[in-house]
Amino acid sequence: MINDKKILVLGMARSGESVAKLLAGKNEIIVTDKNNQDEKLIEELNKLNVKFIRSDEGTELLDKTFDLVIKNPGIEPSHPCILKAKSLNIEVVNEMEVAYHYLPENTKIIGITGSNGKTTTTTIIYNLLKLSGYNVYLGGNIGIPLSEIVKEVKENSILVLEISDHQLYNLKDFKTDISILTNLCPTHLDFHGTYENYKNVKKKIFNHHTNNDLAIINYQNKDSLDLVKDIKSNIVYFNNDINYYDNLGIYLNKELIIKLEDIKIVGSHNYENILASLMVLKEFKIDKDIIKNYLSNFNGVEHRIEVVDSKSKIKFYNDSKATNPTSTLTALKTMGENVHLILGGMERSQDFHELDKEINKVKCIYGIGSVTERVKEYAESMGIKCYSCKTLELAMQKIKENALDNEIVLLSPASASWDQYDKFETRGEEFKKLVEKLFN
Ligand code: ADP
Repeated sequence: MINDKKILVLGMARSGESVAKLLAGKNEIIVTDKNNQDEKLIEELNKLNVKFIRSDEGTELLDKTFDLVIKNPGIEPSHPCILKAKSLNIEVVNEMEVAYHYLPENTKIIGITGSNGKTTTTTIIYNLLKLSGYNVYLGGNIGIPLSEIVKEVKENSILVLEISDHQLYNLKDFKTDISILTNLCPTHLDFHGTYENYKNVKKKIFNHHTNNDLAIINYQNKDSLDLVKDIKSNIVYFNNDINYYDNLGIYLNKELIIKLEDIKIVGSHNYENILASLMVLKEFKIDKDIIKNYLSNFNGVEHRIEVVDSKSKIKFYNDSKATNPTSTLTALKTMGENVHLILGGMERSQDFHELDKEINKVKCIYGIGSVTERVKEYAESMGIKCYSCKTLELAMQKIKENALDNEIVLLSPASASWDQYDKFETRGEEFKKLVEKLFN
């Protein structure tokens, strides 16, 4: 618990707001952000005695009278205000570290990190525990700051937390009971400088572990294996010869837990995420029927190769989150033949030729957004039929004329949405509405 401290919260966002509210009344708090904030929020915080001051960097606000800086996870370690805090010997933590100290002692924490698959794995674990009747809470990088839920958490609960490398960076006392590292590959190097630094930050998910704590590790991922060589946790592996998936099903201790035909989401990466989730759930003895019921209805995480239900025999996938060609390539890998691909959005010099390896699955391309004409040039260079539709609505109308039963319609634009939408989520929502309107 933090009392009688002078605190600078660097960065508002949802996490800055919720940690300020958590600590309000007992501490002197200033929140700063480079952007102006909603008047109503500022008023609400003022009523709690929390001040908001807009500032480009916050450095001029900080002096040696402060006890603590709470940094938004996205702010780089080299930010001038963080450097100033260090030079003044002021401790820097983040919202999750602070909130951790407000949890009941006997809370069991499951922490999920990794380069890919965090949200999917976190979602599956949380939902299966909930469906099995456990007292369980969801939070972290998935969009729910721990500070926001910490006061609701009852004794003897389970907390399922998605934890990003940015969040791990400033954790100190925080400790999980079960940690999952889904996989590791070089990413976010702009933040961490080197891959070595990034991996060492990821390693903090095992901080303070003893052999009473569990580490769940991907046996096929060499970087993960190297990283955990000297951790103190009780390590168990998935993707090895006893906990694995094949083209029939997913197995724990060589026992078939669920058949692939009973799983609605597609793609080997998703089978891996399910396998990792089941490794955790093994500790909680979840009924196989509950697993089957859930996974045969789970459409995946919204906007990420999300299955979109319709009454038509055409299969629809919303992958609006794919804002670059690498993500679209991943989506195409998971698809069967005869894909109608909606491609395009904001012009950002994206190289559509990154899709070449999987493009033979695509029957027809529908170009949208400011990059429409380049999409058409790309399709023509690959000998694929293409319509310049400009908008998602026109693309879906064209698809209605073209797509046959059992074919696939995939929105995986390989482009940001900002030329036509405020965010990729809005683009995905519109896609789902158009499926409903035109195909039901
Ligand atoms: P994260 O939360 O780590 O960003 P998500 O579960 O939201 O991961 O999945 C985002 C995208 O990452 C997916 O659409 C897919 O392209 C890719 N992905 C998901 N899981 C894996 C995995 N286990 N291995 C490789 N790529 C994956």
